[in-house]
Amino acid sequence: MKTLRERLESTGLDVLYDQHIDDNITYTCVLGVYNVEFKHLYTSDDSILTFFYNNKIVYSTGGNINITISDLEKLNNKYSRFEKLLKDIIVFVDMDGVLADFYTLYLKMLEQEPEIKYPQSQWGFFRNLEPIKDAIDTYKWLNSVCRTHILTAPSYMNPLCYTEKRDWVGTYLGMDAANKMIICGYKNLCKGDYLVDDNYTGKGQDLFEGVLLHFHQETNNWKHIKDKLVNTHLNIFE
Ligand SMILES: [Mg+2]
Repeated sequence: MKTLRERLESTGLDVLYDQHIDDNITYTCVLGVYNVEFKHLYTSDDSILTFFYNNKIVYSTGGNINITISDLEKLNNKYSRFEKLLKDIIVFVDMDGVLADFYTLYLKMLEQEPEIKYPQSQWGFFRNLEPIKDAIDTYKWLNSVCRTHILTAPSYMNPLCYTEKRDWVGTYLGMDAANKMIICGYKNLCKGDYLVDDNYTGKGQDLFEGVLLHFHQETNNWKHIKDKLVNTHLNIFE
């Protein structure tokens, strides 16, 4: 007889890991962008197999201890419907200090040439910024799940920055991201659901109509932002 893990895998589900507590085993499976828990749920008169997300039942086989292809199809259909809703969510992602590591180069240039008060006014500054850790992968993931746009304020005293920012985006994120990027110093004028930004104010962040997700390179980095989005804001199973 097949184990539960084998039965799950035979339906095409990707089992990430299992956890044993007493006699119960919980399998964590991948469903789209979500990690869903799958376990036996014992009731007084029957045992059923149930999917949980954040401890809430997402789907149950209802009295049948065998998960079938049909169960998985129903579950996937349910997910597909949610997936369509996610596609309508608009997320703006700031660039300097969020995707591109502005501050490392800024401080380095200040140290090397202290007589230049504004390193960001120099030719090549924006073009030469390094990507922040996990930024490229997470942006691509976010773009595959939601409607995602880069929203960056220009260093308007430096006319080169407009071209260099666009060039940077083309290099690291490709033409689709370059096509969708918005260069605007009044972020509150852009209509959307979320704004990932390392500043609370200064460029209209505080007046943005959606939710401001504060980014910090050290403490609130891309891993935290992604977890927060998946488990809270984009948790479609609630
Ligand atoms: Mg910024």
